[in-house]
Amino acid sequence: MASRLSWQSLRARPVLLSTVVFAGIGAYFGARSFRLPTGYAESPESPKVFGGFGFTTLRLQDVKVVNHNTKRLVFEFPDQNTASGLALTCKAAFADWIRYIVLKFILFQAALLTYSWPKGQWLPVLRPYTPISDLNQPGSVELMVKHYPNGKASSHLHSLRPGDTLTFAATLKGFPWTPNKYSQVYLIAGGAGITPIYQLIQGILNYPDDQTKINLVFGVNTEEDLLLRDELEQYKKRFPGRFNYIYTVSHPHEDGSSLRKGYVTEELLRDVMRGADKDTHVFVCGPPGMEDALVGSRKSVGVLSRLGFSKDQIYKF
Ligand SMILES: Cc1cc2nc3c(=O)[nH]c(=O)nc-3n(C[C@H](O)[C@H](O)[C@H](O)COP(=O)(O)OP(=O)(O)OC[C@H]3O[C@@H](n4cnc5c(N)ncnc54)[C@H](O)[C@@H]3O)c2cc1C
Repeated sequence: MASRLSWQSLRARPVLLSTVVFAGIGAYFGARSFRLPTGYAESPESPKVFGGFGFTTLRLQDVKVVNHNTKRLVFEFPDQNTASGLALTCKAAFADWIRYIVLKFILFQAALLTYSWPKGQWLPVLRPYTPISDLNQPGSVELMVKHYPNGKASSHLHSLRPGDTLTFAATLKGFPWTPNKYSQVYLIAGGAGITPIYQLIQGILNYPDDQTKINLVFGVNTEEDLLLRDELEQYKKRFPGRFNYIYTVSHPHEDGSSLRKGYVTEELLRDVMRGADKDTHVFVCGPPGMEDALVGSRKSVGVLSRLGFSKDQIYKF
């Protein structure tokens, strides 16, 4: 796991990452032309927007303000019948039957590496964002972006208006999900860390043969930070007994709120994870403090270890 790109490691080394990746991209484009507006993956099947070589530039179709610091941005594909190509990834060179098996049973959690050159920056900025739209959805892809004060990429993304464009440099594969490999999963999200977790929820629940039980623990600062609340509620209604969530709010505005108060603590998780066994997997995505407390760091043992989870049962985005 140490060599894997994580939300945190990318955050800690943005300049280095920009430089290294930009150098690689620069070398690549030294030999090939810059493709606009869109580079399609080479595939014998219907064309896909992402997954091939080259930059992909898409037009921003719609912007929705979610709360004080978060927006939803919909980017349209040039061809409305085209799908993102992110949902299930495998090499075009695979024999068809192998491809069928791979496509049918392994879902790679995926993020898009955005490329922007905000005004005043010496170098371009590369940051990953996780689509929140169904990855099989044709015609568009939707991102949900939290704005960080002085954040280079998030400020740029928040400045975009419908009609503007954004360039995507690459796709990043995340956790390879195999349906029914675990009897249940615990998904622990903090703030904007809900996006990869939500993509996993969609992937599991939208696949008819997958029976994995999902328990989500979502910690936020205030009630307005409960992103994707309606969508999660809909899933809970559609999958009673299979999908459950607990919200916990560390700084609630009103005393009257019916939601649980406080951070994602050991006590809370001990309660929620009572039925966990060896057949259980845990996924964590959130701010660095929360991830360190739960997964552990060089200096301290994490809450999840204290609750009996081994390292290979835990995946940190
Ligand atoms: C695989 C992956 C998927 C991601 N998906 C999403 C997504 O769907 N939506 C989304 O909004 N973000 C997502 N992120 C985070 C995103 O890539 C950027 O790190 C984030 O938008 C900040 O970038 P920036 O250039 O605006 O901030 P920077 O210029 O890098 O940093 C500016 C300031 O913000 C602080 N900061 C930056 N990131 C965080 C953070 N996560 N928590 C707390 N403080 C922070 C920094 O410490 C710094 O003080 C994802 C990250 C990864 C690795």
